[in-house]
Parts: sequence; structure tokens; C-alpha cells
Amino acid sequence: MKKITILVPCYNEEKSLPMLHERLAAMMDGMPQYEWEVLLVNDGSRDATMEVARSLRAADDRVCYIDLSRNFGKERAMLAGFDYATGDCMVIMDADLQHPPEVIPEMIKNWEEGWEDVYARRNTRGKESWLRRKLTMSYYRLLQSTTRTDVLQNVGDFRLIDRKCIDAIKQMRECERYTKGLFSWIGFRKKEITFDQQDRVAGKSSFGMFKLASLAIQGITSFTTAPLRLATVMGFVVSIVALLYMVYVFVKTLIYGDPVAGYPTLIIVILFMGGVQLISLGIIGEYLARIFNESKDRPVYIVRDKEGV
Ligand code: UDP
Ligand code: MG
Repeated sequence: MKKITILVPCYNEEKSLPMLHERLAAMMDGMPQYEWEVLLVNDGSRDATMEVARSLRAADDRVCYIDLSRNFGKERAMLAGFDYATGDCMVIMDADLQHPPEVIPEMIKNWEEGWEDVYARRNTRGKESWLRRKLTMSYYRLLQSTTRTDVLQNVGDFRLIDRKCIDAIKQMRECERYTKGLFSWIGFRKKEITFDQQDRVAGKSSFGMFKLASLAIQGITSFTTAPLRLATVMGFVVSIVALLYMVYVFVKTLIYGDPVAGYPTLIIVILFMGGVQLISLGIIGEYLARIFNESKDRPVYIVRDKEGV
């Protein structure tokens, strides 16, 4: 009998979990030809998520859990799940029911047909501001044009991956993770399906603008070194312009003499150069910080407790 793992990273999801379990149980009962494992990864929640997970485990032994020692973030929590999952394939979904469990049978059907990575694309992005939508769009365009790996827009972490993909991702032990990019990076036969994203059933999203921006920078710095190239190009352009300007000033002085003026030009040039240098330093710093963090070679997450895995 084939075994399917459902991986759910949970951070402060005490209210969503019982509802999630109910919907999942209905779906799993409808497909008795598979063995099921619901793997909850408690990512250092500050509420009663862990107690809820324990009681779910007591009531239903398909549920098992890993309790991380603190909040490591969703990306790392997912790696913990990859490490402990025992299924022949795995479905990754959010705890807040934004990803409807009713889509899972369709994913499994595609998997049975031989697809190794069945990812779900959102039809709608739900309630979101115009600015945020525009920003995400330009972000993906930028990422897409600077890297050879396809990072897909409107595709979250809701997907089914085969054991081969799980094993591939397990080999990537980087601390600064951008799992969405890793799914593309590993390759394998991919199949797209679509679904309507629902609203969160309870609690609130833990990804505000700031956290999203930091994930976005992570995405860029872990998948492309194009910004470093940009700094070099900027340096060259500015130098060439400066050189031409130097010739111009030199010739002008020879012809017309030097009537000590040009304060505005001077200040503009100084400020501009300062800006360019700071930006370039910042870019280098971002990459340096990544190298620093990875070079410490710490474990990606720490497990406090586990049950059933
Ligand atoms: N999550 C997590 N660790 C975190 C933040 C979030 O494991 O530090 C989980 C969360 O419990 C949920 C999923 O990641 O199952 C998606 O989080 P959320 O719904 O807050 O994000 P959004 O759907 O708004 O992007
Ligand atoms: Mg959510």
C-alpha cells in the first residue's frame, strides 16, 4: 500500500488545526486505498497549538507531530518535515485551510499518472491591495529575468511531491532557505493544477510586509548573483560618464579659464557617487551576510519532541 504524507507547518494555529483535521479526515477516509500520515510541524507556537496536536494524535493515530524548540520560520519547519516524512509522496499545505484539502485527490491522481511534482496555482490572489499585487508582479519579473531557475508566480507551497523530490530537497541544507525556488531548481516532471485560494479560517497571517520583503530578498540572494553584476555595471557606467565629464571640464578650463563656479554640479556628483557606492556596498553586504550565516554550518532547526515519526 502506498503511503502519503501530509506536511503541515504550524505557527499559532490552535484554532485552525481542529478544522483542518476534520476536513483532512473526511478526505483521507474517502481514499482508504492509501496509508496516510499527517505530519504537523509545530514551529515554536506561542499558543496551545502543541496541546491541540497532542490531542489530535490521541484521537487519530494517522496524525504525528514534531515540536521544534523555537520559531524557526516556515521554510525551516518544512525542511524538518521533509526529514521526518516517511511517505512515498508528500503533500505540503498550510494549516489555515487557505489550501483546500479537497484538491488533494486530484494531485494524487496526477502523481499516479507519473508526475513527480504536482503544484497548485492560485486562480485568485484573494483580498490584496493594488500596490502589493503590482509589487509582487514586478518582483517575479525581476527574479525570472535574472535567474535560469523558473520561479513561478501565484504558486505557493501547496503541492504534491514524489519521494525522489523529497530526497533531493533534503540534500540542500542551507539555512537561508527559499523552498519555492528549490522546488524549481531540482527539476523533475512538473504538472500544474489550479485551485481557488480560500480565506484564512482563524488566526492571522504571520507574513506581514516586512517578513515578505525579507523573503523576497532571500529569494534573490539565494538564486541569483545578478545584483553583484549590476553593481559592477553601475560602477563602469558611472566611471565612463565621470571620465567624459572630466575631459569636458578640462577642455573648458583651457579655453575659458577657471572662474571658480560649479558648486551645484560638484555637490550633485558627490551625492550621486556616494549613493552608488552605498548601494553597491549594501548589495555586497547582503551576499556576505549569507556567506557568514551559511559558513557557521549550524543545524537548520532543533527538535524538542516528536511523536509517531
Ligand atoms: N508558519 C510557520 N512558521 C512561521 C510562520 C508561518 O510554520 O514562522 C506556517 C503557518 O502556520 C501556516 C503557513 O506557514 O500553516 C503559512 O503561514 P500564513 O498563513 O501565516 O501565511 P500566508 O498564508 O498569509 O502567506
Ligand atoms: Mg495563510
